[in-house]
Amino acid sequence: MSIQTLQNTLSAPSNDGLDDALAVARNNYLARRPSSVAAFETSVDYMPGGNTRTVLFHGPVPLRIASGSGCKIVDADNIEYVNMLGEYTAGIFGHNHPVIRAAIDRALDMGVNLSGHNPDEVSLARLVCERFPSIDKVRFTNSGTEANLLAISISRYHTGKQKVMVFDGGYHGGLLYFRGGGMPINAPFDYVVAPYNDIEATQQMLEKFGSDIACVLVEPMQGATGCIPADTAFLSMLREECSRLDSVLIFDEVMTSRLSLAGAQGARGVIPDMTTLGKYIGGGLTFGAFGGREDIMSVFDPRRADVIPHAGTFNNNSLTMAAGVAAMRDVLTEETLSILNQRGEGLRSNLNKIAMGMDLPIQFTGEGSLLAMHATRGTIRSAADLKSNDDRIIELVFLDLLEKGFYIARRGFMALMLPLGDTEYQGFEQAITKVFESRRSVISQ
Ligand code: PLP
Repeated sequence: MSIQTLQNTLSAPSNDGLDDALAVARNNYLARRPSSVAAFETSVDYMPGGNTRTVLFHGPVPLRIASGSGCKIVDADNIEYVNMLGEYTAGIFGHNHPVIRAAIDRALDMGVNLSGHNPDEVSLARLVCERFPSIDKVRFTNSGTEANLLAISISRYHTGKQKVMVFDGGYHGGLLYFRGGGMPINAPFDYVVAPYNDIEATQQMLEKFGSDIACVLVEPMQGATGCIPADTAFLSMLREECSRLDSVLIFDEVMTSRLSLAGAQGARGVIPDMTTLGKYIGGGLTFGAFGGREDIMSVFDPRRADVIPHAGTFNNNSLTMAAGVAAMRDVLTEETLSILNQRGEGLRSNLNKIAMGMDLPIQFTGEGSLLAMHATRGTIRSAADLKSNDDRIIELVFLDLLEKGFYIARRGFMALMLPLGDTEYQGFEQAITKVFESRRSVISQ
């Protein structure tokens, strides 16, 4: 499909100012990005929808990124952006952190695919166990999805119970997505889907199914659904109920572990039985991990006659292990994380002030360095509160920000990275102010 054809299909006249504004913004986007369009046209011949990672798809055609350095990325048409998305939290270090780069170089010098244990895996395991209070013992995987599948499975084995409590809007990986009840290809566990942040309704469901609930899997802040923090009282209730019912409480901290040195569990003072990790902990390379109480994890001890095997060719791959050690030991100190999270709090507060000052139906939720933009009024405490979100507004702001040189997720998500400085933070606030001012009339309609 040529740019002209794409533009024509997008230019259907409408009576709605917002739709018209969007059609123009999409056309401008296409006109400036012939290489992204061409790459998309080729990719659809080989991948369904030209896509191998659903979250990256957006209209009119997805942006194709050619390179990155520091906190900046350059697209296939040589347009530069400040990266406010930070690889959906995995890219906290920026695109070429010298300490991590040196660790990867060193690991490459030692040779890849070593066919055995390597020196860095124990160092990374130790750093993870020392950091997160719930983790006595840890095992590595290749993704957060895999970590959650294993945490659920081992909880069922440990308790001898079958059911898995999750929460509406929860995202725990490609096979564990519970927005709107759950995806048809979810891993076939026996789920009980409870409403997030609703203490009373969740307690009722626990009362009803409690004797067969193997584990409760929860994000301390629902990330993918829109940076919706759990109330501490809600997490404390889950802690108490899981102890009472002999169910395993699993915190999915794939995203939230960066909210303090000891993760969200440390920040909230609620300690689960198991924790799953992913994203940035491998220094920005492929990573996942699950860990927890000694008595639950010990079944993986290969010295035991009744060992439960957990395989994975790349679980201890030497590049990730080396990058992870450098990241955890040398880069992500308590102070560094605390400064980044404070910057995030400041940014979110300023963005909300800007939107409120113009009385726009827009708000920013989140915690620390993780933020999400929503086009709806009213308090957001669960996925159900997002029903009136006007996604067209989010798309318009996303496209306008691209034109101003800032990249966020199409769905409005942002994950701040260390190399962002005053210039970028202030520049982003100025850019969003200009976008809101110029779109005020169509957004407020
Ligand atoms: N859990 C949470 C909370 C996530 O945000 C994600 C990914 O975004 C995952 C699990 C899945 O991790 P991965 O993409 O590494 O499989």
